[in-house]
Amino acid sequence: MADPKGFLKVGRELPKRRPVDVRIKSWSEVYENFGNDKLEKQASRCMDCGIPFCHQGCPLGNLIPEWNDLVYRHDWREAIERLHATNNFPEFTGKLCPAPCESACVLGINQDPVAIKRVEAEIIDRAWQEGWVHPQPPAVRTGKSVAVIGSGPAGLAAAQQLTRAGHDVKVYERADRVGGLMRYGIPEFKMEKRHLDRRIAQMRAEGTDFKTSVNVGEDITADELRDRYDAVVLAGGATVWRDLPVPGRELRGVHQAMEYLTPANKVQEGDYAVSPISAEGKHVVVIGGGDTGADCIGTAIRQGAASVTQLEIMPRPPEARPGSQPWPTYPMLFKMESAHEELAEQGGDRVYAVSTSAFVGDEDGNVRVLKIVEVGGPETGFAPVEGTEREIPAQLVTLAMGFLGPQKDGLLEQLGVELDQRGNVVRDRDYKTSVDGVYVAGDMGRGQSLIVWAIAEGRAAAHGVDRHLTGQSALPYPIPPTARPIA
Ligand SMILES: Cc1cc2nc3c(=O)[nH]c(=O)nc-3n(C[C@H](O)[C@H](O)[C@H](O)COP(=O)(O)OP(=O)(O)OC[C@H]3O[C@@H](n4cnc5c(N)ncnc54)[C@H](O)[C@@H]3O)c2cc1C
Ligand code: SF4
Repeated sequence: MADPKGFLKVGRELPKRRPVDVRIKSWSEVYENFGNDKLEKQASRCMDCGIPFCHQGCPLGNLIPEWNDLVYRHDWREAIERLHATNNFPEFTGKLCPAPCESACVLGINQDPVAIKRVEAEIIDRAWQEGWVHPQPPAVRTGKSVAVIGSGPAGLAAAQQLTRAGHDVKVYERADRVGGLMRYGIPEFKMEKRHLDRRIAQMRAEGTDFKTSVNVGEDITADELRDRYDAVVLAGGATVWRDLPVPGRELRGVHQAMEYLTPANKVQEGDYAVSPISAEGKHVVVIGGGDTGADCIGTAIRQGAASVTQLEIMPRPPEARPGSQPWPTYPMLFKMESAHEELAEQGGDRVYAVSTSAFVGDEDGNVRVLKIVEVGGPETGFAPVEGTEREIPAQLVTLAMGFLGPQKDGLLEQLGVELDQRGNVVRDRDYKTSVDGVYVAGDMGRGQSLIVWAIAEGRAAAHGVDRHLTGQSALPYPIPPTARPIA
């Protein structure tokens, strides 16, 4: 155990975000450095609980008390070994995860929880700095081949596990670069792409082969894929976005969030000098209050928007756990992400319990204003409140209202895999689909979710594939029993 009295002596502390007026002038990550000594003190707050509920909160089953203890004892090298034992990419989760582990931390019952996510991020950052992260090519090759479709966190985790198990793995990606939503959805200010590039270089050195700009189902048919490979992992994500079919939807300036975020990210890659969909000088409205909406806000502010307003149909969430969401559940609380902080300091607004009834354009067909109306809560079916209609200026609108599931036409139809009622690919406990030799991981089977779940499912699917190919598997199966898909 770390310091038995650590939680009595040390309060929770996180690194500071750079001042808003400074950070919005650049795309770099928003946090300042946190000294190793401060971090070791944070790790000392862990109580090494007899029943570590943080484990239950983490889909990867991260060995949290073990690496808290190792960090407290200055053994960072062993800490990264324990962290990598359950998580291929701790820098992705350390920077991007909403940390269900912290919501489940026992200290959180009556104090601030252990800063688990920050400890995770610092362990892997230090490991890269010290040169402790190396390629791990397999000692023995099996001669079996696997195609992984999609290079988001699920595809990358599955590919790394299967390559290390000795299989010949090729990852197909229809975009021009590898990374899935971490490449073209999530902006630099949340995670700089160098973290992704470094991992991909490691994977290439281990022997994983990447093929970009290939749309499987179009450029290669499902039959060709199955002929060429001994197994297939589907990791194509939940790419079908939810739309807002109200009058004026066709106006210029109304875009899906991913249509907006992708070119903004491509500017950071050096593909464009300026995004073809820039917020500069415009009144921007972001419809949707989740992660994607926050990423649109931070991007629009950095592009020099004249104003930014975020609309959300749900009522404003509470700031503390309501009785209906007790510890150790993951509560739906009011969040102040870095982009929200920037919005507040720039005089922007987050408006709750409103719905958009129409987009109104100018004589050239460009969106000019949004008609909105206040609505009742979900229990009323979001019924409009009479007399609350109003207009807000909008020259750029981004729709960040979530995703409906995976694309059905093309690959999934050709394979003929069974889909569930929500349109996601059905899988059994081994992450096998209804088609022999075809497995699924991440948002494609689970529906829109989180990076941590995508990595966990990629690892679990790799276990299933390895067993299918060799009759056994030494690869770990991380998903907690309660969260496994039903066969
Ligand atoms: C803007 C945004 C911000 C987010 N922020 C966070 C966050 O901060 N934290 C968090 O935990 N989660 C976040 N999420 C959710 C998270 O990114 C996803 O849950 C996660 O990326 C899913 O991983 P995946 O590997 O299943 O799919 P994806 O990351 O969606 O990757 C799927 C890949 O498959 C490719 N593909 C699809 N079909 C084919 C085909 N036929 N042939 C070849 N390639 C194909 C796609 O091009 C894509 O690159 C965010 C999502 C969005 C949209
Ligand atoms: S629940 Fe919190 S205090 Fe307990 S072992 Fe996990 S991180 Fe440490």
